[in-house]
Amino acid sequence: MNESLDFGTSNTGANEESLRMVSSQPIGNEPVSDEELRPHVLDGFIGQPRLKAQLQLFLDAARKRDVPPDHILLAGPPGLGKTTLAMIVANELEVPIRVTSGPAVQHAGDLASILSSLDTGEVLFIDEIHRLPRAAEELLYIAMEDFRVDVMVGKGPGASSIPLTLPRFTVIGATTREGMLPSPLRARFGFTAHLDFYPHEELEKLIDRSANVLGVNLDEGSAHEMALRSRGTPRIANRLLRRVRDWAIVHDLIVVRPADVKEALSLYQIDSEGLDRLDIAVLNAIVRNFNGGPVGLNNLAAMVGEESETVETVCEPYLVREGFLVRTPKGRVATQKAWQHLGLTPSDDVSKLF
Ligand code: ADP
Repeated sequence: MNESLDFGTSNTGANEESLRMVSSQPIGNEPVSDEELRPHVLDGFIGQPRLKAQLQLFLDAARKRDVPPDHILLAGPPGLGKTTLAMIVANELEVPIRVTSGPAVQHAGDLASILSSLDTGEVLFIDEIHRLPRAAEELLYIAMEDFRVDVMVGKGPGASSIPLTLPRFTVIGATTREGMLPSPLRARFGFTAHLDFYPHEELEKLIDRSANVLGVNLDEGSAHEMALRSRGTPRIANRLLRRVRDWAIVHDLIVVRPADVKEALSLYQIDSEGLDRLDIAVLNAIVRNFNGGPVGLNNLAAMVGEESETVETVCEPYLVREGFLVRTPKGRVATQKAWQHLGLTPSDDVSKLF
């Protein structure tokens, strides 16, 4: 993965992002409902075959050596399975897991008290590890390397630090912004796994599995229709499935056909490529108002009535990745694919740009 890639939306764009059906962030009560769909063993984790093989070997070796495995870093966009993998690792090793996150740790002392209460072999999962305060980061990499933490006793000039030896434990860090981790911290991880977006076939399998868990009876082709709209992201796939389940319940459907999926998801304004109202508004503005572009970000944002940051962090990454939009030094340009998707023919001027 390119370290400068930024998968995070932990800024103002995140609020808008978390309201969208096609957001890869958890929304509403989803952290709870995410639980019921999480696989508990590596075999049940769908896709990412290379990563799974590497992790399997890594865990098997630790088991054979009868020591806790090295620390693990999981990097990649939200919703791709980092938390799930952390839970699976603890489950496969049959050890408890303690869960915290970078923003939850406000002071180094918070982390020191978590670390000093860990048992031998325990897994400490730190989500959004790139958001740990600097002092906590420093404390963490000493703990990861030397299994020691310096506990401060007292305050002011009379304060002293008492070194405390920790049992061997395993840190699993998850990050959407690997490039933001300071290199001393990154260097303490013995294994770094990069999660990629999932191809449609894998999302289909994932949707079939989740449908089984939720008791939704899908007809042939229905999982495919949802997979096409899931933006390569398991969390979105599961969310769309839940909305389709609602539709099936309300309409007393025994079997959900592909046409039902299309109808249900179009109610939520999600189209055949997984684009929602805002994505389409952005493409329409470029194509219809600026003849395909180039158009500057601020103009574009004003046209769709959103903050520039929302357009840049929430819509553009997917539109660029799927080839609907390119960023040029002069501004944003809609591709031929975007014109075709809107049912229009690119103007001659624009065709020459590609
Ligand atoms: P992240 O921590 O990367 O944001 P999560 O691990 O919370 O993502 O995954 C979001 C949801 O997607 C969970 O319900 C999880 O069960 C499901 N999920 C993610 N990856 C997979 C996978 N490879 N196989 C099955 N379910 C998955």
